[in-house]
Amino acid sequence: TETLLKVQNLKKEFPINGGILGKQIASVKAVSDLSFEINKGETLGLVGESGCGKSTTGRTLLRLIEKTDGKVIYKDEDITTLRNKEMRALRKEMQMVFQDPFASLNPRQTVEKILEEPLLIHEKLSRKERLVRVYEMMETVGLNKDYAKRYPHQFSGGQRQRISIARALMTKPKFIVLDEPVSALDVSIQSQILNLLEDLQKEFDLTYLFIAHDLGVIRHISDRIGVMYLGSLVELADGEALYEEPLHPYTQALLSSVPIPDPEVANEEEILIGDIPDPSNPPTGCPFHVRCGSCMEICKKEKPQLVEAKDKRFVACHLYNDDLNK
Ligand code: SF4
Ligand code: MG
Repeated sequence: TETLLKVQNLKKEFPINGGILGKQIASVKAVSDLSFEINKGETLGLVGESGCGKSTTGRTLLRLIEKTDGKVIYKDEDITTLRNKEMRALRKEMQMVFQDPFASLNPRQTVEKILEEPLLIHEKLSRKERLVRVYEMMETVGLNKDYAKRYPHQFSGGQRQRISIARALMTKPKFIVLDEPVSALDVSIQSQILNLLEDLQKEFDLTYLFIAHDLGVIRHISDRIGVMYLGSLVELADGEALYEEPLHPYTQALLSSVPIPDPEVANEEEILIGDIPDPSNPPTGCPFHVRCGSCMEICKKEKPQLVEAKDKRFVACHLYNDDLNK
């Protein structure tokens, strides 16, 4: 396997300003020290509860927001340090599809205009050549090209997401971040869009980072899966291996929907996946320790690193630390 993108120690903090002077009083640690690789041609799924930092990760990779620290290596280059002009050339190759196509498509532009725009920015083509590409792409994503003069509101939700996907593909990208691309759609439409994304991946040799909170959707589409919790990757594995034998207590809880014990409720009543701690004031040690049924003393003090616990199974949990379990 060939690596397309290498993420090294990525961090993203958002300042919280307050007080009379509006000075920074704290920060939200949205992404803390993430390292992983994305292989060429694969779909890497990122899953976790809302607020775990998966969208921030996707946006930081594409530099829609700027990192606080760390590197994103693409073609032997740390793209987080590229200047805008150099980054613009790369934007052709790296695209994003958002959850809500209604919000991300300009309501006053026709589909034709929406799909033509990336070509105007990135390619030198005649109007006729651009339109050929637009109509071709409409057909590729399953939209009737006779509808090119229609506006986004004249399409269904699923069709609108097809328009967003077409727009992302116009510049022939290599890497696409898909941020909850089907979660706003009816379940019956979801699988159509997932199948379309799989077909397009084969046809255009695409690599995906697929972000979702829905475990069924993630399982359907992903080759490998990263489970995020409070800004950290807690587990990384091949898709089926993860579902067959989740290693991290958080993944186990997510997959089984077994209630995670809540120490504050003192066992009288167990809640189904309690609240994620405040990311501006994350717990010491393991970020999951306040909700973990297997918490040990060390878990409160030391943050476990993501290490290979067994063949191609990476997990960040002291339970898999051989030195401790001798
Ligand atoms: Fe639970 Fe400790 Fe593993 Fe964290 S490191 S998931 S607290 S056992
Ligand atoms: Mg999100």
